[in-house]
Amino acid sequence: MTAQTVQQGDLVTVIGLEVHVQLETDTKIFCGCSTAPTDEPNDHVCPVCLGLPGALPILNEAAVEAAVKIGKAIDADIPEETRFHRKNYYYPDLPKNFQITQYDEPICQDGDLEISVEGERRTVTIERAHLEEDPGSLQHVGGGGGIDSAEYTLVDYNRAGTPLMEIVTAPDFRSPDEVRAFLAELEEVLEYLGVFDAERDGSLRIDANLSIIPEAEIDGDTDEIGQSALEAANRTEVKNISSHKGAQKALAYEETRQKNAIQRGRAVEQETRHWDESRGITVSMRSKEEEKDYRYFEEADLPPLRVSGWKEEISIPELPAARRERFESEYGLSEEAASKLTSTKQVADFYEDVAGEFDPDLAATWVADNLLGELNYRDIDITEIEGRLEEVTRLVELVAEDEITAKNARETVLRSMLDDGRTPDEVVAEEGLGKTGEDEVQQAVVEAIDENPGAVEDYQSGDDGAINFLVGQVMQKTGGSADPGDVNQLLRAELEG
Ligand SMILES: [Zn+2]
Repeated sequence: MTAQTVQQGDLVTVIGLEVHVQLETDTKIFCGCSTAPTDEPNDHVCPVCLGLPGALPILNEAAVEAAVKIGKAIDADIPEETRFHRKNYYYPDLPKNFQITQYDEPICQDGDLEISVEGERRTVTIERAHLEEDPGSLQHVGGGGGIDSAEYTLVDYNRAGTPLMEIVTAPDFRSPDEVRAFLAELEEVLEYLGVFDAERDGSLRIDANLSIIPEAEIDGDTDEIGQSALEAANRTEVKNISSHKGAQKALAYEETRQKNAIQRGRAVEQETRHWDESRGITVSMRSKEEEKDYRYFEEADLPPLRVSGWKEEISIPELPAARRERFESEYGLSEEAASKLTSTKQVADFYEDVAGEFDPDLAATWVADNLLGELNYRDIDITEIEGRLEEVTRLVELVAEDEITAKNARETVLRSMLDDGRTPDEVVAEEGLGKTGEDEVQQAVVEAIDENPGAVEDYQSGDDGAINFLVGQVMQKTGGSADPGDVNQLLRAELEG
């Protein structure tokens, strides 16, 4: 590429993604071996996933179901018939010397996913999504732990044959922030579908290609880029990204690196770069890869797969975007609250349970702010307290019926429930948090005024802060079970009356 000297403002970042999603199935895609994590290397293997001669693959129905669900969720075309191909290359993590994947007849084509970045909506085109098997994993031992300096390498085929869905987007992203928003949305969708576990190591692997092109090459109306401009720009492929946060960091780094090079009149190399998460940089991979020829050919051991009836038979739940919108219109929630409450299906389901019984706003405060806040603080996922959600509902009931103050409910009862496992009723009884009757509060107000003439005088001579001291006195007398706001009002009424 002939480097041009251009202004920063004239440059546009163009990014496309290949996302490998590990599908949550009990067994591998072409054999009955378990996909459960295990510390023992080469524990979950058999002749099929070891590629022994004569072993034949049998397609896992659950993987196809998951693929159809994803296809429906991204509104893709799912053809009547789809096919598997062999992608040939030699590498020790690939026992058969080919990977079973899909080539020109993938199970999903032409889908899309809508994202929202800083309040602006954008539709990302998903060109294709296809099923394939994961290779095994290599462990380089000795030296620096890298492939270049290792003394030897161990091969573990536990992962070989794990079902993957490779999701390929158009070069639709204009910033690393958009990429992050897309991946976060995609993760939510996949979790709603029940086909993906974000907590699992290596469940999401992302390759991103990034190029910088002159703004003039982009159609202002359609946002389309001229093919010649894309081809003229040297792009880098960034590998080894494993999360939406990592993607944003890696691509922000790469974007700056390329823009700096262009502005200094240096050429951007067309190359593959490795994201080094711990150092926060991308590094050129030593071997300059040549244009690959995988010699794809049809997988003769697997017949064509007819999925024509599946699309109608397989149903998918309401997806996060639709649910967010419904939460806003049905419960009158803000976009922010609706977004928090739909972050996982479990949270959204629980919110709807609580909102069905009590005021939706109260339910939103309790689920989005109080419960999720305390869970995040303790690094607990809502699924871990699934059996105790009824207790949380009971706590909201105690607040809704005015039996305890919101402050006590939040700061004492909820925290005790999570930290020592007591039920809300136990905490209320044992800590004496039942709300004090109105007469009792009124009496404490009168007493506090009688006992603190100094503070009363200060208040009456215009020191409004003195009221806080009196509120404190009343709270002490009622053992903290009065509502401080009510107390404040009662004190003012008494002092001015
Ligand atoms: Zn196997």
